[in-house]
Amino acid sequence: MAEVRLENVTKAFGNLTVIPDLSLTVPDKSFTVLVGPSGCGKSTLLRLIAGLEKPTSGAIRIGGDDVTRAEPSKRGISMVFQSYALYPHMSVARNIDFGLRISNVPKEERERRLNEAARILALEDYLDRKPAELSGGQRQRVAIGRSIVRNPKVFLFDEPLSNLDAALRAQMRVELAELHQSIASTMIYVTHDQVEAMTLADQIVVMNKGRIEQIGTPMDLYDKPASVFVAGFIGSPK
Ligand code: ADP
Ligand code: MG
Repeated sequence: MAEVRLENVTKAFGNLTVIPDLSLTVPDKSFTVLVGPSGCGKSTLLRLIAGLEKPTSGAIRIGGDDVTRAEPSKRGISMVFQSYALYPHMSVARNIDFGLRISNVPKEERERRLNEAARILALEDYLDRKPAELSGGQRQRVAIGRSIVRNPKVFLFDEPLSNLDAALRAQMRVELAELHQSIASTMIYVTHDQVEAMTLADQIVVMNKGRIEQIGTPMDLYDKPASVFVAGFIGSPK
């Protein structure tokens, strides 16, 4: 059970209040997509859930546990970034299981998880290659593989496809949907791409200036946008 709950979370950087008061429930195993204009606080929200930032006030629960003060490594989450720096001198296999090696996961278990991730991501034939010998999409899959092997309860994605070209983005969209089907984890996904939001989401959260403008299924938001702002973001005709 890995529902994510934010309860009256606020976040200020000095005098700048980025998140004034935000409550949100992300259901267990949902694919929840956060959209909103640049600077509205999407990455900050993910970083709060990940524990890379501490809220100024409010509480964060993952799977019912209060993790508001917990270290990132104790939260059962894993984050995939837009710029997925792989280690250039290491093979694909070593890049994927690096995190397991530094946390002393036994070799057999490491290999089991590596093979499972490689199968899910169709990287079996590439495990001995170096990152430079891969396409952009394959590199992004390696970055996702690094998350999968850690068996997170919750995956956080911060615009993971925005450096890829349109054709590759379309392919990766399909792969992400399949990934969600096959591993059934809770996923929280930030994008500014409406097509990604509409095709991947069970639930879309539209943010504006650190607040939630509207939450709903893609069809809810398209059919009944609560404001011109939401309609503009979703591309519906209000
Ligand atoms: P988004 O991901 O939606 O583009 P961010 O969460 O990155 O937005 O940023 C929201 C606001 O918070 C921006 O005004 C940004 O400049 C500010 N901000 C983010 N991180 C910091 C930080 N560490 N220190 C100061 N301001 C920050
Ligand atoms: Mg951002």
